[in-house]
Amino acid sequence: MEDFVFNAQAARVVFGAGSLQKVSHEAGLLQMQRVLVLATPEQAEQAQHVADLLGDKAVGIHAKAVMHVPIETAIAGCDEVRRLNADGVIAMGGGSTTGLAKAIALETGLPILAIPTTYAGSEVTSIYGLTDQGVKKTGKDPRVLPRTVIYDPELSLTLPVSLSITSGMNAMAHAAEGLYAQDRNPMTRLMAIEGIAALGKALPLIRLHPNHIEGRSLALYGAWLCGSVLGSVGMALHHKLCHTLGGSFNLPHAEVHTVVLPHALAFNALAAPSAMQDIANALGVGDAPQGLFQLAKDNGAPVALKDIGMKAADLDHAADLAVQSPYWNPKPIGPAQRDVIRTLLQNAYEGVAPNC
Ligand code: NAD
Repeated sequence: MEDFVFNAQAARVVFGAGSLQKVSHEAGLLQMQRVLVLATPEQAEQAQHVADLLGDKAVGIHAKAVMHVPIETAIAGCDEVRRLNADGVIAMGGGSTTGLAKAIALETGLPILAIPTTYAGSEVTSIYGLTDQGVKKTGKDPRVLPRTVIYDPELSLTLPVSLSITSGMNAMAHAAEGLYAQDRNPMTRLMAIEGIAALGKALPLIRLHPNHIEGRSLALYGAWLCGSVLGSVGMALHHKLCHTLGGSFNLPHAEVHTVVLPHALAFNALAAPSAMQDIANALGVGDAPQGLFQLAKDNGAPVALKDIGMKAADLDHAADLAVQSPYWNPKPIGPAQRDVIRTLLQNAYEGVAPNC
């Protein structure tokens, strides 16, 4: 057995259909008496419901979260916290809302209670992102890790099927790259395999029965596990490519992950055979990249960058950016791989099946 280091992320997890009802009790356990509830404008109604459940503990709703946490949004959120003298924030929504809560916690040190409604996994990581003049920078800080996470699958019943599938693929990407991470360990491997298996079963169920709680519960369970992997170990080529494509070309987050994942895994397949075997076994397929490509396709998710807003004219620049600064990957990446990455991007652009 190899030596390893495992850093457990110390969050309390409350899981189950209807668990939103416990929000006031959970806020109390965190000593929150003056809570600001955060959401996107689209989820203002859900935020109001949380505030109603909190009763006297709620001091306001701030439904102004947007994708990638622009610095102006973060400043406005901090101003609102100070104006209301809040002593905690509740993030009710997906990664964008959790991202705003993290930006506030980073600045103010306030505790976060997260109620995720997508499968992005940000609620169990200490990674934050801030976008200044179109450039997104990420960092890690223990202050931004939510103290408590309430996973209530009933809240994801309203997540459109298309976003459910891509968000689930986004979660699986964390686990897949976690399986070949340099700092992987037996615990993250268990979580990754279980998370991929859960989502592999959940996504077809959600497509067939979007209003059934079984598929939604399984997906949220998988998302928790996959997000926990992201929070524990380093990511590689796939996340770098998605960060580049999402940040520099403004492509939608979950969709980019869905399209790129099979191609990034195919690139790394020979350098990470045991990870590929684990993914394939978890999905019950013969080949990991092909299996994920098929899972996306069978469930109506996009498989081509050209279908989610990428321009062919930008592929050269994207390849340049992807190999610009060195980072760890099971198959080394540097300027010498520029042409192979360019081919990978071309395949992802066209939506052809991944090459192994
Ligand atoms: P999102 O939070 O942007 O949500 C997408 C849209 O779906 C929003 O309009 C939102 O209001 C809506 N929505 C969310 N849940 C819903 C529900 N249950 N019903 C109806 N509508 C719902 O999308 P996301 O993919 O969850 O988050 C993406 C962002 O999270 C990106 O900025 C990404 O970089 C970040 N992220 C960060 C981490 C991290 O660890 N820091 C991890 C994953 C993602």
